Amino acid sequence: MMVRSLTVAVIGAGVAGLLAARELQREGHRVVVYEKSSKLGGLWAYDPRVESDELGLDPGREIVHGSIYLSLRTNLPRELMSFSDFRLTEREYGDPRTFPGHKEVLSFLEDFAREFGLIELIRFKTEVVRVERVGRQWVVETIRADGESLDQAFEAVVVCNGHCTVPRLAEIPGLEKWRGKQTHSHNYRVPEPFRDQVIIVIGNGASAYDISRDISKVAKEVHLSSRSPNANLSKLDIFPNIWQHSEIACVNEDGTVAFEDGSLVHADTIFHCTGYNYEFRFLKTNGIVSVDDNRVGPLYNHVFPPELAPSLSFVGLPHQSILFALMELQSQWIARVLSGKVALPSKEEMTADVEQYFQQMKKLNRPTHHTHFLYKPEEFKYLDWLAAQAGSPLVEERKKEIYRKFLKLIENPHDRLRDEWTACGVLVARNYNTRLVRMADKACPFNAKRRGEAYRKNPNNVDIGNTGDNTPSLHS
Ligand SMILES: Cc1cc2nc3c(=O)[nH]c(=O)nc-3n(C[C@H](O)[C@H](O)[C@H](O)COP(=O)(O)OP(=O)(O)OC[C@H]3O[C@@H](n4cnc5c(N)ncnc54)[C@H](O)[C@@H]3O)c2cc1C
Repeated sequence: MMVRSLTVAVIGAGVAGLLAARELQREGHRVVVYEKSSKLGGLWAYDPRVESDELGLDPGREIVHGSIYLSLRTNLPRELMSFSDFRLTEREYGDPRTFPGHKEVLSFLEDFAREFGLIELIRFKTEVVRVERVGRQWVVETIRADGESLDQAFEAVVVCNGHCTVPRLAEIPGLEKWRGKQTHSHNYRVPEPFRDQVIIVIGNGASAYDISRDISKVAKEVHLSSRSPNANLSKLDIFPNIWQHSEIACVNEDGTVAFEDGSLVHADTIFHCTGYNYEFRFLKTNGIVSVDDNRVGPLYNHVFPPELAPSLSFVGLPHQSILFALMELQSQWIARVLSGKVALPSKEEMTADVEQYFQQMKKLNRPTHHTHFLYKPEEFKYLDWLAAQAGSPLVEERKKEIYRKFLKLIENPHDRLRDEWTACGVLVARNYNTRLVRMADKACPFNAKRRGEAYRKNPNNVDIGNTGDNTPSLHS
């Protein structure tokens, strides 16, 4: 078998880029990694800056790549933040917790890059501004921080630019008239700027969960809003100032936010913790690869565009899986396809496969913007499928079991989960659940129908401290 060694550009030195670089190098390719910042680690390199346009609507804004907040701890345990042969469970950088803070993960990634000789492959402070097919090659245009611009040709490009930077916003009736502050979790760093404010946090994911808790330490009130059918007006019993609400019905010019559950809150800030949009401004493919309602496509199994395979590929697009393992397997698949050890199906077969996937999504009523979501149990099927393609060992059953247990637990999130989790995925103590306390109609300070008028006139005069404490819990 003829093994090819190609020149390959990797865009980004986050987890995806580091893994791609390692696997490509192992496979004998000649790799250059472009990284626009001065650090490796991508999202895990905490950046205290926030963008001038906090909703990310101005295309001319200076983009801050990072989206993590100072208090962030991993939302998966160490076992699942490891690579197959380089494990966070076997290393410690000052934060031995099972769910460590972000600094621990960054130290781990720096160690990984040193161990596998990746740092010398990275061109720091070098932003890729154009990637374009010219003949049989890809031209990669870069601009360095000192302003120097350069075109360089490669035989293949692996896109690892991350997808947690461009805010995706909630669409809410009346938002255009609302005069309060709006921001997105992308621009949340520390709670202090929100001291004494009434905050609405929209979202049901890890960021909404974390930010609501973090901000509640200084905010006057925090009101979580979720589309989940189980989200009804209730108070979180171990927090004096956090309430759960249903979906927002509308927001009003007078600064009030009305929820579908009938409650009404006068708020200072609306936080969109509603995810991110994929964006590849540098990629010029004449429409062969495009982003449509967060569907990057067409891509064969989230990695190769059939028309441009194998010379163009993407690592790290899927959501909801053991992401470190997923990115490692995608990288191994790409590296071996490029070297010729692993063959891809024909262009027609890949196109048909993508089409079939889109049809299947339609049949299952899945929205287009969930194209890269791996629904249960697809996250493991996909990992196993990747391993089979790449000729790599399967992700260990132990890791899958931990992930399964973790998913089950976060269906009813637990405020001490991170500290009480043990390696086998069992909680040491279970009696600290954050109970949701149903708001009795009379006691509810946010009931629009009963108290809307008075509340609107004098929103800050409402005694919220006495509500709900004696009402039955929904979960215990
Ligand atoms: C708040 C938050 C918490 C998370 N917590 C977890 C967790 O606990 N566990 C987990 O497994 N996952 C978590 N994730 C998911 C996380 O995104 C992935 O784990 C992983 O870090 C993604 O790596 P990446 O390399 O794809 O992207 P990134 O980490 O975003 O890295 C992309 C890199 O590309 C660079 N880049 C971008 N564009 C260019 C360009 N044009 N030219 C040159 N360089 C460029 C960027 O500077 C960056 O360094 C979390 C995500 C968020 C937003």
